[in-house]
Amino acid sequence: MEANQIQLESYYCRKCHSEIETNNPICPQCGRKMQTQSQIKGLGKVLVILGIVISLGSGLFVLGALAILLFAKNSDKDIAMAFTALSLFGAALAAGITATIGGAWQAKHGRTSKKLVWIFFGLVFLIFILGRVFSFLKN
Ligand SMILES: [Zn+2]
Repeated sequence: MEANQIQLESYYCRKCHSEIETNNPICPQCGRKMQTQSQIKGLGKVLVILGIVISLGSGLFVLGALAILLFAKNSDKDIAMAFTALSLFGAALAAGITATIGGAWQAKHGRTSKKLVWIFFGLVFLIFILGRVFSFLKN
């Protein structure tokens, strides 16, 4: 590499969300290795694919658990198992959806979003409410 061809690149720190034009990929605030926008975007695309796979997989189990809660005449043990499955796979579904949304955001903007954690907890809360509604209907 010739010295006069060195260009500053836009690096982004995923920990403190700072964006700096530099040729030294170490974050001046936290010392973490920073990433270029294209690296962040590439990771975003991987996240989208992972998120969709996780969402589809756990979504099937969530639907299965909901179907058991909704239609089947079950013993108390089955109901308890369906609720456990609903909360477990519900949390996985929330993580999958969050990864998909976050990955898409990341692939588009080249930076991570701070709002993701709220999206995740919002989804978990929604699924929790859904579970409570079914539990209410069954009693
Ligand atoms: Zn940093």
